[in-house]
Amino acid sequence: MREIVLDVEVIESLTDNYIWLFVNYTESSAFVVDPGEASAVLNWLKKRKINLLGILITHHHPDHTMGVEDLVVYYDVPVYGPHNSPANCITKKLRENDDLLLHGNRFSVIEVPGHTSDHIAYFSSSSFGGNHILFAGDTLFGGGCGRLFEGTAHQMHSSLGKIKRLPQNTLIYSGHEYTIANLNFASSVEPNNDKLTKRYQDDCQKRNMNKPTLPSLLSLERDTNPFLRVSKESVISAVHKKFNINDCSEQAVFEALRKWKDIF
Ligand SMILES: [Zn+2]
Repeated sequence: MREIVLDVEVIESLTDNYIWLFVNYTESSAFVVDPGEASAVLNWLKKRKINLLGILITHHHPDHTMGVEDLVVYYDVPVYGPHNSPANCITKKLRENDDLLLHGNRFSVIEVPGHTSDHIAYFSSSSFGGNHILFAGDTLFGGGCGRLFEGTAHQMHSSLGKIKRLPQNTLIYSGHEYTIANLNFASSVEPNNDKLTKRYQDDCQKRNMNKPTLPSLLSLERDTNPFLRVSKESVISAVHKKFNINDCSEQAVFEALRKWKDIF
């Protein structure tokens, strides 16, 4: 049997979006995640003679969906996305725990509302070079999380809780390159977090070389992303100092932390 060569590739798009492609190089085929523009994806595929098999949407925002209309003119493929999405380009509507088979690998759907009401993430329990994959859209970013446009802080906190419980060796593929700005914020929340300081240096180096800071490992996010650390004493005390609140519940700390980031 031939060994199947799989990889995740990235196209930088618009201002700071990442369009991820899950590629099977053995069969020259790919799935694309959140194509916010068509031309960049079409060029990428054409140049490598790779066929498109399907489109995965995480949520309805135009910078994640705008390319779909033109892509399906060239490729008659299914468009997967949240069942409750206002985006009318979606042809295969997905719910929590639904399964997809991509290049023979099972991906399951996790509903993660908060950034928008219709947000889903795609998780593969298969191992790719020892790691799992999560296409996280605008829910979890490097060092941060999505803004609350439609959902509540409570929803976002419980959505991030679902991601936090995934295997630690899960690679997080997010929709934007926001890591440095997020780590700046994280550093003012936890100035004494050594792992955070180290990550900041590493990721600045990557950006200086024009490399993406993503994907990041979930274990690193758990150690450095304040939105996954709202039960930690350092984060709780920073939030209490900032807002003069007494509530120590994870939810209250999360809500205050999200507000803090919004005005940072
Ligand atoms: Zn968005």
